[in-house]
Amino acid sequence: MEHLVRSCYKKNGGYVFAKKAVDIAREYGIDRIARLASNENPEPLSLSAQEAAEQALRNVNRYPDERVNILMNALRTCYGDYQFVSGVGMDGVIETVIRTLVDPGEPVAISTPTFSFYSLAATGQGAEIITVPRETDFSVDVKKMIRAASKAKIVVVCSPNNPTGNATPVDLVAELLEGIEGILFLDNAYVEFSDYNYLPLMKKYENLILGRTFSKVHSLAGLRIGYAFVPRWLVPWYQRASTPFTVNSVSAAAAAAALPDKEHAQRYIAQVRIWRKRFITEVKYPVLPSDANFVMINTAPRKSDEMVEELARHGVVVRSCRSFAGLADHYIRVSIGEGWENERFLQVINTL
Ligand SMILES: *Cc1c(COP(=O)(O)O)cnc(C)c1O
Repeated sequence: MEHLVRSCYKKNGGYVFAKKAVDIAREYGIDRIARLASNENPEPLSLSAQEAAEQALRNVNRYPDERVNILMNALRTCYGDYQFVSGVGMDGVIETVIRTLVDPGEPVAISTPTFSFYSLAATGQGAEIITVPRETDFSVDVKKMIRAASKAKIVVVCSPNNPTGNATPVDLVAELLEGIEGILFLDNAYVEFSDYNYLPLMKKYENLILGRTFSKVHSLAGLRIGYAFVPRWLVPWYQRASTPFTVNSVSAAAAAAALPDKEHAQRYIAQVRIWRKRFITEVKYPVLPSDANFVMINTAPRKSDEMVEELARHGVVVRSCRSFAGLADHYIRVSIGEGWENERFLQVINTL
């Protein structure tokens, strides 16, 4: 019956998970695995988020609030007078934004190498993908992007970029916003770990979306909740394109309570800032400068997959960057984890 499946799903391999490396570590009998492959906050969720989730769990016989007001109010308290939408992870937001704006055959432009889900989501909805490669230092050439993408419905730039770690300066983002006809989706999944502030652009531009997630700094990856700063005109259309009751009540309550717990976020951010520097100075391979909670490492002449396997045998799970289209096959991406995980990584990588 598989002939019934759409060809777009048969052509590409889908999202790449880091599962295999975990299996390898287990095969080698390691039970305490350093998990540095998925850019999660290694600390458990904030206690107030946990309590809010437990409270919300008592009422799950009822459908959630379709407006997700508990989260919308928390976001306004935290950031001020902006418009927001939410979804099942930022991935859910990305998918809904594409569904809201892109008709089959219309172009979506993506600055690469980057997070693979943009092109998976766009392809899945029949968009035509325009790939715009970054420069050799992984910066975005805005003029080139404008030339290639001025007609695209959506232009996607990730800043700080996954997996390269570098951010795009605010003035360049403004230049891009001026030069395109469509919407810029700026993925800010890692912005909390950087010194960049793109919020002033929201006040000035009608064609900007800032995607955010609770999966990284807020320790809620398992609850699948994300949001975005959006222009006001988009809100009712986004809601029309969404599935009804998209965000579950437990995740919404946890996220709303996690947001004001600045201490929880700050502990990890401080840890990230210390370890990014240590990785740069102490790893024997070149480590690219990073504005995120991970670093990309150039392991040439060793191949990405080979490095990931060797690290896994020593109980350290990192991400091979081979699956990021447009990137040479000698890069790995390593998240900043707990102290012992980072130490173990340093110890092992320097023997390889
Ligand atoms: C992790 C990540 C996301 C979103 O994750 P969700 O868990 O779906 O919120 C989005 N973009 C990038 C670049 C990421 O790395």
